[in-house]
Amino acid sequence: MIELHQRPQNWLTKLWNLPRVLEGTRVQRHDPCGFCQSRDAETLAAVDYWDLSENKIVKCLNCGQMQLDPMLTREQMELGCKAWYIDQQIHTDIHGQKKGFKGAFRRGVAFAVLLKKKKIFPRTMLELGAGDGYFARGLQYVFPQLKVTCVDIVPEVMDYLENHHGFSTIRAELESLNAQEHGTYDLVVARDVLEHTSQPMTVFKNIHQVLNSDGYFHMVSPNGFEDMWGFYARNQLSKKPAELLINHVSYFDPYSLKLLLKPYFDFETWCIQDLKGVLKRGVGRAVIAEVACAPSIKRSVQKTLEQETQLNQLLSITPEEVLKTPSGYAMWADFKENKRLTLNADTGVGRNIFALLRRTHQ
Ligand SMILES: [Zn+2]
Repeated sequence: MIELHQRPQNWLTKLWNLPRVLEGTRVQRHDPCGFCQSRDAETLAAVDYWDLSENKIVKCLNCGQMQLDPMLTREQMELGCKAWYIDQQIHTDIHGQKKGFKGAFRRGVAFAVLLKKKKIFPRTMLELGAGDGYFARGLQYVFPQLKVTCVDIVPEVMDYLENHHGFSTIRAELESLNAQEHGTYDLVVARDVLEHTSQPMTVFKNIHQVLNSDGYFHMVSPNGFEDMWGFYARNQLSKKPAELLINHVSYFDPYSLKLLLKPYFDFETWCIQDLKGVLKRGVGRAVIAEVACAPSIKRSVQKTLEQETQLNQLLSITPEEVLKTPSGYAMWADFKENKRLTLNADTGVGRNIFALLRRTHQ
């Protein structure tokens, strides 16, 4: 049992008594905890994943992490993911898409500058769920010799990453990643992917395994308290299930996560940068309609999948259009993206956990 009551405090967490004590009902969960395998849990919210399944968000009473229960099946995840992707694309035009690529590239450049300042010079990088690939291109802007390999399970995404960016690809589930088959790397990057995994502890151990002895692991993932707040608030307000459209299945309590990861990693950077939600709207502390998720209407996955024909020409953007940069770009990206004012992620306040961890020698 992890001693969560010793959670570090600061002025903000004291002022608002955060993370808030959540009201739940004790249950035996359907699937064991993906972090510690315990079945003792508390139900925090009810959600519907499209019209595919009815689930709960539960908090493990042993390790404190929050997850969906029962866990989504592989088939549900695949259908829901595809529908979510189509829904997003339909509402993004070419201009918006290009802006997104540029943002990812800029964050890659800024992150590489951060590494350089810490005298970390990776030669090989493994990115888990690289998406459009522009974050890795940003790293290559600063480290031109960096060899990038991407892990994914969707053949179309792999083709795209190979053809548009010249990256190598590995087709594998994150839960089966291993050094024997997939090699070892100086840097492993997982941005906005770990919240999608049902067995995060297995994935973290695998990441440890595919790192070189002085390798680094960079992750960005939502702070679970803020990420699940909309569902919690919806349930508290109306006792009705909330609508879950994106397959976030794990909601990280940053402090408990740190305790779980300590045997595997040393903590170089562990912070939360964006406090806008909690400051402005009360995400994570106020049970009000403004921050509550929409009630479930059991949106149809099939109807969304049928709209796929509307998707066209989105892949026509070439890297050359995105990667035009003026001189002094790296300095500007550093200024814009690397926030000077940050909070220790342990506090569990704010939007994203931003971490740079070094593999421990064991
Ligand atoms: Zn647990």
